Amino acid sequence: MTRITVAKGDGIGPEIMDATLEILKAAGAEIEIDEIEVGEKVYLSGNTSGIADESWETIRKNKVFLKAPITTPQGGGYKSLNVTTRKFLGLYSNVRPCVSYDPFVSTKHPKMDIVIIRENEEDLYAGIEHQQTDEVVQCLKIISRPGCEKIIRYAFEYAKQYGRKKVTCFTKDNIMKQSDGLFHQVFDEIAKEYPTIENEHWIIDIGAAKMADTPEVFDVIVTLNLYGDVLSDIAAQIAGSVGLAGSANIGESCAMFEAIHGSAPRRAGQNMANPSGLIQGAILMLNHIGQNTVAEKIQNAWLKTIEDGTHTYDVFKEGISTQKVGTKEFANAVIANLGNKPAKLNAVNYSNGAALNLPKYKRKPAAEKSLLGVDLFVHWSGNNPDELAEIMHLINSVKLELTMITNRGIKVWPAGFEETFCTDHWRCRFKSSNGINISNEDIIKLLQNAFTYKIDVIKTENLYAFDGKPAFSLGQGQ
Ligand code: NAD
Repeated sequence: MTRITVAKGDGIGPEIMDATLEILKAAGAEIEIDEIEVGEKVYLSGNTSGIADESWETIRKNKVFLKAPITTPQGGGYKSLNVTTRKFLGLYSNVRPCVSYDPFVSTKHPKMDIVIIRENEEDLYAGIEHQQTDEVVQCLKIISRPGCEKIIRYAFEYAKQYGRKKVTCFTKDNIMKQSDGLFHQVFDEIAKEYPTIENEHWIIDIGAAKMADTPEVFDVIVTLNLYGDVLSDIAAQIAGSVGLAGSANIGESCAMFEAIHGSAPRRAGQNMANPSGLIQGAILMLNHIGQNTVAEKIQNAWLKTIEDGTHTYDVFKEGISTQKVGTKEFANAVIANLGNKPAKLNAVNYSNGAALNLPKYKRKPAAEKSLLGVDLFVHWSGNNPDELAEIMHLINSVKLELTMITNRGIKVWPAGFEETFCTDHWRCRFKSSNGINISNEDIIKLLQNAFTYKIDVIKTENLYAFDGKPAFSLGQGQ
């Protein structure tokens, strides 16, 4: 018996959760349930996180969480419970299988069977944002080696366990050479450890276009958080419907399972919603807790139900579907099919389904780090970069001298173009004048000088070399 935490959520959540739990019970899932309240009611009671402290305790004790969609109230101040849960519990891997069920669910891609494995904790979702000048805000893209190693290893281990042939990595490392570049580099390193699994890398833009056009050439896709978010919704939709896909959020000790869609408030309380996304989430959960025989039985019964043409309104199509049913009736049809297998769709075999057992990340020995200079980011409302260079030259020291000014990344001094549009946010690069490493004290002196000359420094970024290799990007056009 496994004790799990269940939250019925908002909108269509309670109906699709009840339907899913009925199926789990009828299939003989060995689970005991602790129900918690999360979402709209909790938010509106004045708790901006949408969840009470006692509920966290339940989730952390049981370690397995089946969650229906929740409504995040409109307006500022309410934190997304999904993002908080993923990050608090270290659920680094978001697994989203996107499969088409041709000819029973209408799709342009009859042979699609993709699993998208999305990094779930970092990237632009670190949520570190600042306004720095009148004209400029920034959002930090944080990519870590542990983050890359954990998700990429997860993708290869997943492929190995489920007999998948290929893992494809999507990044934009032709532009983001350090951040996306790290993800790609770690992918190449880890791929070598799995010689029997094919591997390839695509630049995300053309890769996403290829996936939307010819998804059958992909198998497992691993990518960064934001790309994975967008890509997996597209993949689920082109497979047939976002209403059919479930997802697993996996961490080292806890896991959360859900449908990928939201709470569809307009359909709530009408016994109309398709419970399939949450059923798929629950099947991923059963595999995770080692109840693969039950998972397989439910999935085959579900496939048979889809094949029978018993469809909820969202996938119902005249000529393909045989009967339009509500949430409860759909669940009853799945229950009646328990023990049956689909005749045309491929029946599943989950004898290999179980939680992946990944090694814990081990920190590598630290590299030798040397400080070569500093970027001062300056709020300045002038237009002519040569004038700013003159001002910045006033604070050159024996150790540090101005070498470049960029605006939104493009070099504007020395030898900039008049045509380049400039905002009030300037990056002034100071580098060690005699090639010798500098210290933090030299930067403090530079900042003191800047203060004396009333230069509005809004932030600094140190320029390092790791093991002698400069580890910062050049200015565009440099
Ligand atoms: P949504 O996914 O709820 O709905 C999008 C469309 O799909 C709607 O037309 C809806 O009727 C339909 N739909 C979704 N699920 C369906 C199902 N199971 N059966 C039949 N039709 C279905 O997205 P939205 O309208 O953008 O968001 C509504 C609320 O859900 C928002 O408050 C949002 O914050 C929340 N949300 C929650 C989660 C989550 O909890 N994981 C995810 C996404 C959105």
